[in-house]
Parts: sequence; C-alpha cells; structure tokens
Amino acid sequence: MKYISTRGNAPALNFEQVLLAGLASDGGLYVPETLPTFSAAEIAEMASLDYPALAQKIITPFVADCIPAADLKVIIEETYAEFRHGAVAPLVQLGANQWVLELFHGPTLAFKDFALQLLGRLLDYVLEREHRKVVIMGATSGDTGSAAIEGCKRCKNIDIFILHPHNRVSDVQRRQMTTVAGDNIHNLAVEGNFDDCQAMVKASFIDKSFLPEGRSLVAVNSINWARIMAQIVYFFYAAVAVGAPARSVAFSVPTGNFGDIFAGYLAKKMGLPIERLIIATNRNDVLHRVMSTATYGRLSLQHSLSPSMDITVSSNFERLLFDLYDRDGSAIAELMQKFENNDITFSDEAMAKARELFSSACVNDDETCAQIASTWERSEYLLDPHSAIGVRAAMAANLDPAIPVISLATAHPAKFPDAVQSAGVAEGASLPAHLSDLFDREERFEVLANDLSAVQDFIAGNISA
Ligand SMILES: *Cc1c(COP(=O)(O)O)cnc(C)c1O
Repeated sequence: MKYISTRGNAPALNFEQVLLAGLASDGGLYVPETLPTFSAAEIAEMASLDYPALAQKIITPFVADCIPAADLKVIIEETYAEFRHGAVAPLVQLGANQWVLELFHGPTLAFKDFALQLLGRLLDYVLEREHRKVVIMGATSGDTGSAAIEGCKRCKNIDIFILHPHNRVSDVQRRQMTTVAGDNIHNLAVEGNFDDCQAMVKASFIDKSFLPEGRSLVAVNSINWARIMAQIVYFFYAAVAVGAPARSVAFSVPTGNFGDIFAGYLAKKMGLPIERLIIATNRNDVLHRVMSTATYGRLSLQHSLSPSMDITVSSNFERLLFDLYDRDGSAIAELMQKFENNDITFSDEAMAKARELFSSACVNDDETCAQIASTWERSEYLLDPHSAIGVRAAMAANLDPAIPVISLATAHPAKFPDAVQSAGVAEGASLPAHLSDLFDREERFEVLANDLSAVQDFIAGNISA
C-alpha cells in the first residue's frame, strides 16, 4: 500500500514511513493511494469475528507490505487485551433503532485508546526492527496526552514528552498522565495555556536541532495515519452487529479534528453500507458552518463542557477535501494556502458530494446537559458530555426510523464529573476499578516556564541513552 499527500507534492511513502512521518513535506496529510474494499458477502462473514480478529482483517491490507501477518496478529491481540470489556466496543441500545457504541473501555476511558494503544505498539515494533529510537513530543489539553502515554509506556525505543498547560487540565485528566510510572515518560506542565504548548511542539518539529544526533521526532496527534486506520475497525464492528450488510446504518460522531468521522467515511468507501454520517459539534462549530454555508472560517476558541472537541480548525478535514476535489492535490494546496489568512468557500460540486453522505448539527452546553438528563431519565444511562452531543445530533437528524443510528460514546462519564453534575444527575459515575485509586497515586511532572528553550533543554537532557 502506498500513501500519497493531500497536497500532491511530496513523495509517496509505505506504511512504515507514514507511521513515522507526521505531516507530508509539502504540508499535506497522507492518505492511502487506493482503498481495499469488502464485498457484501465478506462483510456478512465479519459477524462471526471477535474484535481483534476483525481488526486484523480490516488493517491487514493497509500494512501487509511492512508487517508480516503473524506479527500483526500478536500486536493487535496485545492491543485490545488492554480493554476492560469482553466485546472491546460494546453496543448499548437506548431506544428503538437507537444505539450507543461504547468506545471508552480502554486504559484512559476515551476512544483515543483504540488508536494510541495500537500506535505505540506499531511504532515500537518497527523501531526495534531498525534498531532506532525516537522522541515523541505532543501537547494536550486532556485526552490525547494520557492515551499517548498509556500507549507508549512499555515502548523501549520511545521517549515521550507531553506538554500540558499547568493548572489548566482537569484533575482526572492530569492524574491519568502524571501517575503513569516509567523512565521514558515525561510530563511537562508549562506555565502557559494550551496554545502556548502547541506552539512549542510545532516549533520543535520545524527546527529539531535541539535533539541529539540520530534521534527523530514523531507526532502522535490525530493527523497520524495509523490512528485513523485503527478507528475504521469499530465502524464495521458496530454496523455488522446491528444487521449490516443486509441493513444500512447511520453513525453520529462527536467531532473535533475530524479524525474519528473520517474513519467512518473510509469504512463507507471500503464497502460498508453507511446511509449517513452525522458530524456532531459543540459550539466550536467550524464543521457545522462548512456544511451549512460552504465557508470554512476560523472563529476564536470557546471553552465548552466537551473540552476534547474545543477546536478552531479541524485538521483532518483536509483529507475529506482531497476526495471532494477529485484528489486534485494542487487544488487542495491552493485552498489551504489561502486558508492561512482567509476564510475559504468550497465549490458547489464539492459541497453536493459532501452533503450526499454527511449531515451536521451544533449542540451547545445547555443542550448537552439537557441530553445527559433526558437520556438518564428515559433509560438510566449516563452519557459523558461528548457522547451526549452525538446522541443529540442523531435525534435532530430526523432519519428514516427504519435505519439504525449508532452514536459513538467517546468518553466515560466519570472523566467529566462537572458536566454530569451540571446536568443534575445526582448519581454521577464512579471511576472503574482499575482507576479507583487514581487520587492516591503518586504524581510525577515537571513545571517549566513558558519558554521554548527551557522546554527543549529539558527534553534534550532527559532523552534515554
Ligand atoms: C478527541 C475526542 C473527540 C474528537 O475526536 P476527533 O477525532 O478529533 O474528531 C471526541 N470525544 C472525545 C472524548 C475525545 O477525546
């Protein structure tokens, strides 16, 4: 499998190269040159597979020229053995033809574990084979950092440095990062905000001279192709469980950087009968505005009850645009160039294509709380604020009631106790057993000034031999 850049001006890479690459050299994102497809008969057979076996079936064509089948099998089995539910991604029924896909049974209680548990193992596997070591550097406002740390904690060939804004992430989220022990794990609490952290990571990827000879920097943010790839699997898993391919299904996806929902789009292109994909945003509604007005424009960031979806631009949207513009890399390069300083408007043809499959809805904090409360009242089921946005958007979409709608539950409600409390659900949710002593565990983090050289000096001084 070859991977090509959305901006059409970077070398094609194989899976192993793309795993380590991050952004393409032309500033674009890597996508598969062609997609594997599955026939209806092949999809029907997927109903008999457990999650790891299905993951192997879906992922194999993307990696087969780099990872032998027997090794991939072990990597995938180890990855999903970390999840604390026999189904890995269980479906829960909330109403007639209304379902929730629970993606929060991984180590950090958010769906990002599906991708980052696999990514850490894939990276360590290829690095071991090449006798290489790398440095992972990332900025987090919460979920990504803990999932990346959990995914990489056993990786002998990776030193991981995660920057978070000091005193500005929730206690649960901070502790999920800072209580993980390991000499290769470094939490840097920067005396600044999330944008400051992200700017330092960006600057470090542009000028890597602070690193020792031979050590490269790897990105684990949502533009990494392997993360998207891992997420395709659960769309197949859930659809087959409610009757695909005999029935078409719809998915509602709480969306920030458009990674998760882009995986759903790929599942559709690979043959899964998806009738509709609903883009569910909080009031940082850049994608809802695109769908409604064809204009892509930045507004300032608004803090919401669903912080993991607080974004101003949606980085993976470029991957969809590439297809909407018939894979014309120079058209995408031109659009994204213009977007650096201006709003951009998409062509009628591009929007018509997008609207064939995607709908969108924007759900504000009051509506999020109302949904948590009403789902609790009707079904005694507790949604986290991100998942509530997906459920709300699914109901607003007014689909044919014969079509099963699956909303992705992207985080466990115990991760966001304040939102659950705001919704007036007194019972709340408690942390699962494996995290019940989270507040008794020892924390380890380094407070650093909001200063690039302070951060880079710390990293350079703490890289393993
Ligand atoms: C990251 C995250 C999202 C958004 O996912 P994208 O792939 O960026 O669209 C939604 N919910 C939760 C809980 C998350 O952590």
